[in-house]
Amino acid sequence: MDIKPCCHHCENAHYVRKNGLSRAKSQRYFCNVCKKSFQTRYIYQGKESDIYRLIEKMLAEGESHENIASRLGIRLDMVSRYILAAVEDK
Ligand SMILES: [Zn+2]
Repeated sequence: MDIKPCCHHCENAHYVRKNGLSRAKSQRYFCNVCKKSFQTRYIYQGKESDIYRLIEKMLAEGESHENIASRLGIRLDMVSRYILAAVEDK
């Protein structure tokens, strides 16, 4: 089954389409709402600061780590890593 993640910029999940593979062979996506592309793999390298904001927002909404991972199309351990990194920043 092919689960599409929601947009990492505007959280829209309905107008996101696949947009080929990056050089690192990770899936790229393009959002037709905000006209931005994003990937689900490289976020742990800290290149997508929007992810922090989304994870924090979803946590504040009471979403489980599992739900956050599946909505953003990222692995569960990435969510944990981001939460840890966010804590260390403070
Ligand atoms: Zn978007």
